[in-house]
Amino acid sequence: MARVLVGVKRVIDYAVKIRVKPDKKGVVTDGVKHSMNPFDEIAVEEAVRMKEKKIASEIIAVSCGPAQSQEVIRTALAMGVDKGIHVEIPAAEYETLQPIHVSKILAKIAEKEKIDLIIVGKQAIDDDSNQTAQMTAAVLDWPQATFASHIEKGDKELTVKREVDGGMETIKCKIPAVISADLRLNEPRYATLPNIMKAKKKPIAKMTPKDLGVDISPRIEIVSVEDPPVRQPGVILPDVDALVGKLKEGGHI
Ligand code: AMP
Repeated sequence: MARVLVGVKRVIDYAVKIRVKPDKKGVVTDGVKHSMNPFDEIAVEEAVRMKEKKIASEIIAVSCGPAQSQEVIRTALAMGVDKGIHVEIPAAEYETLQPIHVSKILAKIAEKEKIDLIIVGKQAIDDDSNQTAQMTAAVLDWPQATFASHIEKGDKELTVKREVDGGMETIKCKIPAVISADLRLNEPRYATLPNIMKAKKKPIAKMTPKDLGVDISPRIEIVSVEDPPVRQPGVILPDVDALVGKLKEGGHI
């Protein structure tokens, strides 16, 4: 049976309208609703289903971030994860935390906890990096199966269906491995109230990047964050001739 590690990131809720900070170095996070990254809910769900099918023996959820990151660990615990690890990163340093740092942290924990399978989301919807799975596999020198939409675990290997541009690709890879969860892998469950209560008793270990020997000094600098351009209002034209006229006028045809 496999020991599974899942990455859970606390991000601004997908339904919130994002506002750029006046200094253009990031987006407003204070007083804004946050949730577990949606792809991480899918990663957690997949791990919990593996446990239900007796493929997984223990599931550990890791979140790297400030104190509030514990909220998403609690959600993961309520969904069926066994224990949590909170890698504490103060807010100021968290602003410059990058996928390479998270990957090194996940890799260290995987080694310490004798993990067989790491499942992360395909991307975090705040920074849209889509790098953590790939970099974690590289740091550990493990195979990677990214954008997974179906996973079958054999004794020593995984068969994973991946969503690629042209359709579906099926690959096999050896275990240990890193997987990233795509949207159609499963539909995550809601945590029920009894499970939320039970999750309060599950353990969350705390550690720092330093404890794990990971240097989190920034590798890139954010020069500027801008709002997307405002869409111009459309016009309703009476007929096709008017449309063709407009297109010619604008030099489009
Ligand atoms: P990214 O490469 O930043 O787009 O993130 C891909 C996935 O890596 C996310 O869906 C999470 O599963 C994991 N991940 C990224 N950042 C964190 C973090 N701060 N804490 C825990 N997991 C993370």
